[in-house]
Amino acid sequence: DVWLSRHIDIKKNRELTAFFERISRFALSLELSQVTTAEVVKTTRNMFRYGAPGIVQGGCAALTSELERRLLERGAEIRLRSDVMQILSTDGRVTGIRVRNKSTGEESLLHAPLVISDIGPRATNALLNNRQVTQAQVLKKQVTPGDVQEAIGLKVHILSDVSLIPHKGIMYCLDTKRIAGMVQPTNCDPRLAPPGKHLLISHQVMQSDNIEEEKELALGDLRMMFGETFEKHCRVLTMSAYRGEWPVNRVVQGDDVAPETALQGLYLVGDAVKPSGYLMVEGVAQSVNQFLDLLDAIEQGRTDGPPGVPHIRRQGGTPVPVRNVVPPPSRLNALRWLWEAPGNSRST
Ligand SMILES: Cc1cc2nc3c(=O)[nH]c(=O)nc-3n(C[C@H](O)[C@H](O)[C@H](O)COP(=O)(O)OP(=O)(O)OC[C@H]3O[C@@H](n4cnc5c(N)ncnc54)[C@H](O)[C@@H]3O)c2cc1C
Repeated sequence: DVWLSRHIDIKKNRELTAFFERISRFALSLELSQVTTAEVVKTTRNMFRYGAPGIVQGGCAALTSELERRLLERGAEIRLRSDVMQILSTDGRVTGIRVRNKSTGEESLLHAPLVISDIGPRATNALLNNRQVTQAQVLKKQVTPGDVQEAIGLKVHILSDVSLIPHKGIMYCLDTKRIAGMVQPTNCDPRLAPPGKHLLISHQVMQSDNIEEEKELALGDLRMMFGETFEKHCRVLTMSAYRGEWPVNRVVQGDDVAPETALQGLYLVGDAVKPSGYLMVEGVAQSVNQFLDLLDAIEQGRTDGPPGVPHIRRQGGTPVPVRNVVPPPSRLNALRWLWEAPGNSRST
C-alpha cells in the first residue's frame, strides 16, 4: 500500500487501491501492508501471464484421485491413516521415519535415504526432535512484538436457488465491509451442488477477534450485494474461520523457505516452500517442481554447496536449464488476457 501511494493518487483511485487490497485479502488472508511490494508485483505479473485462476472439475477429490491413480500405476505404495511420529537421522543424514498406523496404533520404521516433508518447517523440525506440533500449539496466538504475521480468514459457503455470479472467475467485492471476493464454483462444475442449485463461496480477512461480529458483517455484505434475493433464495451452509498455520498458510506469502534443510537427504515441499510469485496450490505445485529440478541436479552431480544444502550450479552466472519448473508464459499472454477479459473467464 505504501508503494501504491507513492505511484498513484490513492484518494482519486480508491477502486484501484481496493482492488489490490481485495486480491491480497481473498488470496492470502493478509492485508496489503503485510505483503512485500516485490511479492505483489511478481504474483500480479504471473496472474496476468497465466490468466485467471480456475476450479478443478470434480473439486479437490478429482485431483487426489488422479494423483493416487498415477502413483499406484507406477508401483508406489500409499499409506493412508498413518502419522509420521519421528524423522530419523544419523551423522547429519536422514535415515528414515517412524510411522504409526492410526487405526491399529501399530508402529513401524521405514528406512530411506531421502525424506520429503509436506508439513512445513515448524512441524518437520519438531519431528526431527521426536515431537509433534499439536493443533493447540499452532492456534496459540503469536504475541511477541515483531513476530511472524498471521493469516486469519473467514469463509462462507452458500447454497442458492438462483445463479448470483455470471462467470467462472473471482468476483472481487470493492465496496463491502468485510467480504473481499466470491466465487460460484458450480459455474465450472455443476456437480458441486444438487441439480439446479448453485454453490457460492465468499472469503474475508477477520479484522477483529470477535468471530460473531465478523460473521454478522459477512452476512451484512451478502444482503447489501444481493438484496432480497439473498434472503429468499440463499441458505448459508457453513461459516468457517481459520487462523495462523491451521490448516495451512504456514508462513505468509513471500516469507517462504528453501526446500533444503540442514539434514542431508531431508527436503521440504508444499505450503511455506512456494517459489516467489506463485499463490496457493499453484505455488505448492511449483515447490514440488523446484525440488525435482534440485533432485535431478544432485543425481547428475550439478550442485554446489555443503552436502546438506546443495544448490543447482550456475554456468557463467546463469542458472542451468531446468525441466520441471514451468517457465512463465510469454508477456504477450498478459496483453491477450487483458484484451479478452472478462470473456476468457466465461469460456475457460
Ligand atoms: C479455507 C481455505 C481455503 C483455501 N482455498 C484455496 C483455493 O481456493 N485455491 C487454492 O489454490 N488454495 C486454497 N487454499 C490453500 C491450499 O489449501 C493450500 O495451499 C494447500 O492445501 C497446501 O498444500 P500442502 O500439500 O502444502 O499442505 P496440506 O494440504 O496441509 O497437506 C499436508 C498433509 O500432511 C498431513 N500431515 C500433517 N502432519 C502429518 C504427519 N505427522 N504424518 C503424516 N501426515 C501428516 C496433513 O494431514 C495434510 O493432509 C485454501 C486454504 C484454506 C485454509
